[in-house]
Amino acid sequence: MRCYYHRDLESIGTCKNCTKGICPKCALECDSGLACSNECERRIKLIDSAVDRSINMGILPSLFWVLVGICFLAGFMFAWLLEEFDWTYLTFIIFGVLYVLAIHWRYIQRQG
Ligand SMILES: [Zn+2]
Ligand SMILES: [Zn+2]
Repeated sequence: MRCYYHRDLESIGTCKNCTKGICPKCALECDSGLACSNECERRIKLIDSAVDRSINMGILPSLFWVLVGICFLAGFMFAWLLEEFDWTYLTFIIFGVLYVLAIHWRYIQRQG
């Protein structure tokens, strides 16, 4: 593959934004890949920061609370079906919350 801008030069990779072949002369280093121009570098950084933001504050906490909510809802439904509040119900809630916490903890560990 040849560089998109220098037809006589061999490319060392592709732009992460527009996937054009780029040579060492054109390549701009980004945290997550190569860019062919300042415009592409800017866009890659924008996408990267958006992804980082959604991982840090969006996806993880919402998934966590959705799971907690499911556990509580399932617990309440169980209690409603039994038409009583007893130890079965409490055990269900406790194990549900512990299960969600375990998943949450493993996720945090993986993020390092
Ligand atoms: Zn080039
Ligand atoms: Zn590009």
